[in-house]
Order: sequence, then C-alpha cells, then structure tokens
Amino acid sequence: MHSKVDLLSPWSETEKEVINSLSTDSRSGLSLKDIQKKHEQFGPNLISVKKKASRWILFFKQFKNPVVYILMLASLIAFVLKEYLDAWTILSIVILNSIIGYLQEAKSETSLEALASLTSPKSRVLRNGVTTLIDSKDVYPGDILILEAGDYVAADARIILANQLGSDESILTGESLPVDKNTTTLSKSVPLGERSNMLYASTMISKGSGRAVVTQTGKDTEIGLISQMMETTKPGSTPLQLRLEGVSRRLIFLGIIIVVVIIAIGIFQKTDAVIIIMSALSLSVSAIPEGLPTVVTLALVMAIHRMSTKKALVRKLDAVETLGATDIICTDKTGTLTTGKMKVRESYIYQTQKEHHYNGLAFCNNASLDHGGSGDTTELALLEYMADEKVDIHKLKESGHRLFEWSFESIRKLMSVAVQIEDHCYIYVKGAPESVLSKSLINEDDKKEVYKHINLFSQKGMRVLALAFKEIQNEKVSGLSQEEAEEGLTFVSLVAMADPPRPESSEAIRKCLDAGIRVIMITGDHPKTAEAIAKELNIIDEKRNLVLTGTQMDELSDIELLSQIEKIAVYARVSPSNKLRLVNVLKGLGHVVAMTGDGVNDAPALKASSIGVAMGRGGTEVARQAASIVLTDDNFSSIVDAVEEGRAVNGNIKRSLQYLLSTNLAELLFILGAVIIGWQVPLLPTNILWVNLVTDGLPALALATEKVPYGYLANSSRPSSKSFFNLAFYMELFLVAILITVFCISLYYYSLGRYDLLTSRNIAFSFLVYVVLFRSFASRSETLTFWEMPFNRPHLVAVLLPLLFQLGIQKSDFLMGLFKIKALPLNISLQLILIATIPVTLVELFKIWRRK
Ligand code: ATP
Repeated sequence: MHSKVDLLSPWSETEKEVINSLSTDSRSGLSLKDIQKKHEQFGPNLISVKKKASRWILFFKQFKNPVVYILMLASLIAFVLKEYLDAWTILSIVILNSIIGYLQEAKSETSLEALASLTSPKSRVLRNGVTTLIDSKDVYPGDILILEAGDYVAADARIILANQLGSDESILTGESLPVDKNTTTLSKSVPLGERSNMLYASTMISKGSGRAVVTQTGKDTEIGLISQMMETTKPGSTPLQLRLEGVSRRLIFLGIIIVVVIIAIGIFQKTDAVIIIMSALSLSVSAIPEGLPTVVTLALVMAIHRMSTKKALVRKLDAVETLGATDIICTDKTGTLTTGKMKVRESYIYQTQKEHHYNGLAFCNNASLDHGGSGDTTELALLEYMADEKVDIHKLKESGHRLFEWSFESIRKLMSVAVQIEDHCYIYVKGAPESVLSKSLINEDDKKEVYKHINLFSQKGMRVLALAFKEIQNEKVSGLSQEEAEEGLTFVSLVAMADPPRPESSEAIRKCLDAGIRVIMITGDHPKTAEAIAKELNIIDEKRNLVLTGTQMDELSDIELLSQIEKIAVYARVSPSNKLRLVNVLKGLGHVVAMTGDGVNDAPALKASSIGVAMGRGGTEVARQAASIVLTDDNFSSIVDAVEEGRAVNGNIKRSLQYLLSTNLAELLFILGAVIIGWQVPLLPTNILWVNLVTDGLPALALATEKVPYGYLANSSRPSSKSFFNLAFYMELFLVAILITVFCISLYYYSLGRYDLLTSRNIAFSFLVYVVLFRSFASRSETLTFWEMPFNRPHLVAVLLPLLFQLGIQKSDFLMGLFKIKALPLNISLQLILIATIPVTLVELFKIWRRK
C-alpha cells in the first residue's frame, strides 16, 4: 500500500528537517530493519505494477489459433458423422498441442524475465553506512541516493549534497537545457521547473555529483502522478516474426484453395462424402505451419540465453536479428579494444615544476588507492605512478583541501579543481594536451617542444594527459566560473600511460574482416594514439587508412564526408555529437551499424544506431538504458560473439522453417497426388497431426536451437530480408518435398497392390515419420553434411524418441485403432527405416556436389 509521507513540499524545508521527518540518517542511510518496514509501507518503487498474465490466460491463448479452429471443426464433423473415436482423438490432440504451446511460451517468458532483470535500472544508495547498488524498484522514502553524471534518478528526492550537480529534466518539464542543482531551501510556491534543490524520478544527472534523500516513490512521484499509464510496453513482434506471420497467412490461403480443389475433384469423381471431407481436413491441417511461431520465439530466446553466457545481455528481442545483419561495428577504444588497465610509462615535466606536478595529479583526481583501488582507471594510474615515485599521497592530500571541482566532461576533455594549500589558492587543470595547452600561456618554442613529446608518446599508442595550474586570490574563488578557472594557465607537465590492446581484440577483428564486417574505431583519445593502436589491431589497412578528428569532421559537409567515408578507419578526439552524425550518415548509406557508448552524452547515438552497445562495467546507467545490448565485460570480442550468434540464429530459424515447410508440402503433394490418381486417402487427419506436431516438431525445435559451430562467422553470409526467403530457400524446399513425395507415392502404390488399405496406410504413415526424422539431419547446416557437424545430443534425442515411439505403437492395438491402421511386422518397419535413409543421403550428396 502506498501512503504519503507527511512531506508535501520538501523543497521548502531544510535538508535536516527532511531527513528527520523521514527518520533516516544522512551518513548511514536506512538500516536493514527500516527497509523491511518501508517495503511493507510503500511497496516497490514502480509507476505501475505490470500485471502478469495469469497462467490460465496463457493456456487459453493457445486455442486462439487457426489450426485449432480447423481441428475443432474436424472434431465436430466427426461427432456429427458418429465417428466418435476420431472426434475424441482430434480433441485430445488439440489439448496436447495447447499444453505443449503453453509450456514453451511459459518457459520463454520466464527466461526473458530473468534476463530483463539483469539489465533493469539500478541505483546507488547508502544503506547501513555502506554504498550499495540496488535495483531501482527497491528504493524507498528515506533512502540516500548517491548520484553522479550519467545516472537516472530513481525517485523524487531532496538534495542534501551537490557538487556541480546538474540534471536534465526535459522528460518532466519539457525544458531541454540541463538545470543546475544545489541545496538551498526554497519557498513553498516555487514551481516544479525551478525547484533547484529537488531531483525527480526518471530525470537524468547530466553533470557533477551529489546526494539526495528520497521523499516520494512509485506512483507518488511527479512522473507517476502525471502519467499513470507509463507502463513498460511489451515488446512487439520482431521483423522476422512479422515476415513469418505473412508466410503463415499465405500458406493458410494456399491450404484453402487446395481444399476447394480436392472437394471439386471428389464431387467430380463421385467419391464418398465422408472421405472427401476427411481428406480436405487432413490437407488443410498439413498446409498450416502450426510450429512456426514457437520455433521462432524459442530460437530467439535460446540465442539470447547463449549470448548472455558470452557476456552480451540483450535488452530487446529484435536486437538478436539486427545483430546478425550488422555490417559495421563502431567501437570505442579505451577499455573495449584495449585492456583499460592504464600504467604511466613516461612523463615530461616542464621547467622543473615537480611540486605542482604531484599536487595537480593528486588533487585533480577522484580515484583512491584504498581498498585495492577504486575510481576512474586513468586517475587511478596517476596515483599508482605517484606511489611508484615514492610520493606520500596521504600526506600530500592532507597538506591542502579541495574547494571546488569542475568534473571531467568528454566534450571539454578537461577536469579542474580549486585547492587551498596553506595560504595559497590554486586551480589545477588536467586533460587532453591540446585542450590544456590552448588554455595555457606558453611561448611558441616551448610549445613546439611540448608537442614533440606529445607526438612521441602518442605514436607509441600511449594516452597522454597534460597538467596546468594557476594561483588565484583567495577572495576570488567563490563565484568563479569554469571558464574563468580554466584560462591563463601555466603549463606544468605531461604524463603518458600505456593501455595495450586486449589479446583477444585482434582475433575478433580478424573474424569481422573474414565475415565482411567493417570495424571503425571511435575514440576520445589523441589521433596518434588511436592510429598506433588501430595499426596494431589491423583496423587500419591499405584500403582504409584515414584518421579523422572530430574537429576535421565538423569542417566537412555531409557530401565531403560521404566521399571519404569508405576510407576512414579511425575517428579520434570525437564528441558525442560526432558519433551521432556518423551513425546517421552510415545508416543513410544502408549500413546496419552497431555503435558502442558509455557516457552520459552517448545515449542519442546509441538510440540512433541499429544496435546500441553499452558497457556494463564502466558505462553509465543512461547509456545502458538507451542500448539494445549491454556487455558485462566491456570487451570488443563479446560484440563479435554476439554478431555471430545473431547470424547463427537467423540460419537456425531459416533451416528449421525450411524443414517444417518441406514436410508439410510433401504431405500436401502426397495426398493431392493420391486423390488425383483416384486412390483412397493415404493419410488420415490423426496421422497428419501426429507427424506435424510430434514427429517434425521435436527435431524442428532442436534445429532452431542448434549451437553456433566453431568458425561460423567467417563462413556465413549476412542475413537480410532478401536473403531469407530467396530462390535457394524455395528451391531446396520444393526439391526435398518432391523427393519425399515420389518415395511416398511409390511405396503406397506398391503396398496397395500387396496389402489391405489399413496396412498400406500404416506403411505410408510410418515411412513418412521415418523419412521426416532422418531428413532433419540434412537441415542442421546449409553447407556442411551432418557427418561434418559437431555432435548435437538434443537433436539426436528429438529424432530417436519419435522413432522408437513409432516402432512401439505397432505393438499397441489401442493406438492402432486410434490411428485407424493395421500394425506392421518388425521386418517391414526395418525395411522402411532403411529406405527412409535414401532421401537424406541424396540431399547431403547434393550439398557436396554443390560445394564443388
Ligand atoms: P574511448 O572513447 O575510446 O573510450 P577515451 O576514453 O580516451 O576514448 P574520453 O574518456 O572522452 O575518451 O577521453 C578523452 C581525452 O580526455 C583523453 O584522451 C584524455 O586526454 C582526457 N581524459 C580522459 N580521462 C580524463 C580525466 N579523468 N581527467 C582529465 N582528462 C581526462
């Protein structure tokens, strides 16, 4: 139950009053005991609790399906014709079918839910005195939120600590510019957009850092009040699912036409009405690919599951398909292609300013070496460097205190602090060397000398940081703007740190090249550094060897950019807006672009790309929520693995589909052929249902979830809407169907001449079961024969079970009665099994011939 805290206008009260009335503590947050109570009092921090479809609804949903309608009709007709056994059998099959459908759907729903919870929004809060990362839904009034740029605010909260804090409240107020935040108490009447000491749920921290105490959660938040309908929308159908729905509709239409034709032939041939109706129904059942939706969903869900074991969490179902079609991967350098473990290798101190060098590196730094080290890897490397140089960092830090911080931003590429050391006040600025030098007063000759060092370090692939400082009068510190702080500086030093490529990156890039996927490096780092790493990883080669900086890119018109785009391998010193522009240009050229991002400002580029890839470790929450996949290890090679899975799932679905359709077509042609010739119907509705639901259903599922074989990416082609249902797809489908039909018709003809009708029907039925089961071996790969493929146990079980069952039912009079057939002796069954291996062998030999 939600009951309101007695705090209707927390902005008009002091931090202390708010904290007291929420019975919390600004230094330790809520205690474990409080949390239980708060949970009972307020419930989860959700705007709307998504009602889960009840299990019964899910079960009855299975009946909403054309196959079921036809089967119900068939059962009804059987009742009317007093064919009670048939009627009950068909009804039982309908129920069995619904149970299987229900189980599969329930399974995919639970595994999707489990995966979704892995990427659900998270918040950092203070609990029991410890900073803890929790699901945002578990935030309660009284919780102390710990916020920094790139976080989403989980609930409405009163700010108690603000450090250059700013938030983007456009979702709530429509105001697109970020608003500055502080802790000053305001008057009660201040409107929402001007409450500078409040943060609101669903808004985003755009800069700085701070703490805030939660005042309202869930439905009681401002965003919750405005829109009670902000439900997380259920993902719609993926493009492939939509395409398949189209195929299904066409097949059903085809089925209806064939039924009409059969009835016409029957009337013309004056066949018995019962037989006409039954054959028509059998045919319509065989025309409908009832297994399709299940196969597609399960294939996608299993692929998502496999991707998660390969460190890529998929947030949207349709991302799986798009991943497979990706032909350009735009990737960050630092931490993604490289290890991100920095180590300072070189330094250059200008005019022996050692003291400011160490002061600057220590104070203009938010990392800490305590507890094994924490904070930004670049800043951590600086502290480790000082420790190696035997600098007593603790003592140094105690010698002064920080007054102010202007946080690092990837657009400015600078971070600055104001520090009080004894009676002096200093500004220390560190950042990208060009940015620091452009704000420093330094003569041209010295500048040249410094640039010589920068180039030297960068060419070795090292990331270079520059440091500068200035002293200011104590009274001028308060009210100093960032622009004022970062001007007229004295240049101090350079530090260069190595960040070597990850060992697995070059293999992953080679895989991409083999598979026709282009890799583009996009980095905030120096062009020379980027170029050195790109060369080492073969991202730069003879054909693509240009390095473009963000500034150069800004100077190019779209047309000029387009004329060079194929040759550009590296974009250096880019800003988030450069990224966005690049995505749009590449997409405009028809490319399917995967783009990585981790910062606050990367969200637009991630959203605009075909596949946004966020970093799970180093990235911000904003980037994660904007992306379609999140990498849990921030590693480039995980993207490549995910693309490989994406391609494989397309292949799996395609082959599984082809398998199902060729079986259905063979049944259709067989029955149609027999009826046209004037024979008795060879397969009865129950037989066909058995083949469609059990015999080919199990192998189809096994095919749909086939694991990716080693080296798959290089040998696969990029799937597209054109390549899915292409000529080759239909050719193989028809050829296999015709091959099976020819075998079926010949055998049926042979048996009709030797045995009675019921035995002949069993021969046709059993043969069809065997041939369809064996045929699935050929469907495991488009190019490889099954003996060249790795062993697949689920598939083997999916073939063996129905095979043994088919042999087993020959021993049961009851089942023989149900299927309306006469049992076959074992030797005939074995002969049929032997003959049934011929079509699959022919298909595999054809593959080998085609390869040659
Ligand atoms: P990528 O986009 O490949 O991850 P990156 O991490 O190098 O690249 P940014 O984080 O935007 O990109 O950094 C750009 C530049 O800013 C760096 O080359 C460095 O010179 C400077 N820089 C990085 N981190 C800091 C920091 N904490 N303080 C000051 N300057 C920094």
